[in-house]
Amino acid sequence: MFKRKSALLLALFICAAAAMSGAACGEEHLLEYIGRKGPTCTEPGNIAYWRCTDCGLCFLDADAVTAAGDTVLPALGHAYAVTGVTATCLADGEEILTCVRCGDEKREHADASGHLFGAFSTTKRATCTSEGEQKRSCVLCGKTETRTLPKTEHLFRDNTCSLCGLTVHGTEGLTYSVVIERGQTVGYRLVSAPAGETDVVIPNSYLGLPVVAIGAGAFAESPAERIAIYADLEEIGENAFSRCRALAEICFPSSLERIGKDAFRDCSSLSELDLPDGVLSVGEGAFYGCSGLKKLSVGAGLSEVGESAFWNCHRLETISVSEKNAFFSGEGNCLTRLPGELLLGCAATVVPGTVTEIGDYAFFGVEGLRSLTLPHGIVRIGAAAFRDCVGLSELIYRGTAAEWALIEKGDEWNFRTNFSEVTFLT
Ligand SMILES: [Zn+2]
Ligand SMILES: [Zn+2]
Ligand SMILES: [Zn+2]
Ligand SMILES: [Zn+2]
Repeated sequence: MFKRKSALLLALFICAAAAMSGAACGEEHLLEYIGRKGPTCTEPGNIAYWRCTDCGLCFLDADAVTAAGDTVLPALGHAYAVTGVTATCLADGEEILTCVRCGDEKREHADASGHLFGAFSTTKRATCTSEGEQKRSCVLCGKTETRTLPKTEHLFRDNTCSLCGLTVHGTEGLTYSVVIERGQTVGYRLVSAPAGETDVVIPNSYLGLPVVAIGAGAFAESPAERIAIYADLEEIGENAFSRCRALAEICFPSSLERIGKDAFRDCSSLSELDLPDGVLSVGEGAFYGCSGLKKLSVGAGLSEVGESAFWNCHRLETISVSEKNAFFSGEGNCLTRLPGELLLGCAATVVPGTVTEIGDYAFFGVEGLRSLTLPHGIVRIGAAAFRDCVGLSELIYRGTAAEWALIEKGDEWNFRTNFSEVTFLT
């Protein structure tokens, strides 16, 4: 092998040297035919040519008419293809590469691939009485994942579900007024509840017509602890449940569109709030002082949030917004009115870099807040934005002291907080 290679290199050297020196044999060369040799992965080859054994010049033809330039066919290099992998979904390993031409094999580190899940498929349909189930599996290792589908809604006709047969009996003593639209009685509005009732059932219909709204102040200051809503409500009126301090559970129907001013003000026992996709507006002060609230999730439809709607919900731990919502974002565990006004924060908030304003009372009294970093683009910090954040011992601003001085700051924005100076980070 080595010998052949050096012989070839020598031949090349002679060709080149002969060409450079212009050595000539006159009209007569003594030609020797060098056959074509195909290159391999690692060894060069050559084209077919004629070489003069006398002067060393190389030609493409037996008559020494056309001089041969470069006669070398370069080595091809290996053409590796993956022929095996020892890495799995969860563990690093190796990738085995084999040259499709010569069979040379090499191994390279391969990171764990992670699972490659297919789409979820329904294995059990949800009904109005039981949850459904969906499964998906990893196409690489077969691991399966399961998720549950929430129950579907009942389909009521005169308070009896035509799907499961459930008959709902509204709490005795609820009173109603008619809802008239364009001269037609279209349904009923619940206007008052009997005093002292802790478990309230709101039926789907009353006197054969749907219950479509809860009127202003209907349950205000009632001792209700649980409200089961079977009505396809569109509206919950002003003050409807305000100061229901024992109210721990309420589940909104998907038909709900509007929640009125102060509707749930000071419902301090509510711990979770899930606004369905259909809810479009939440009135001023609607959830003000819901100090027991830990989790808030906002659906796709919400477009209007009134002033102070969520002020003083200072024990929130999780804030999320449907990714389909075009007006609000929940990025960074806070409620931001797009493009950049942070309306509500919580102890776990990480202010997104796109935020330009911290709204009035946005973090008012948030108990668990220890440290917060404000992005460079902030132009305004609202009134009482961090007021009474007694645990907040570090406030970092991604900018200079001079830039910080230019930010508009509302009254008492840092009243009763625990940091003495802002930290600048550039
Ligand atoms: Zn010659
Ligand atoms: Zn090869
Ligand atoms: Zn897997
Ligand atoms: Zn049903």
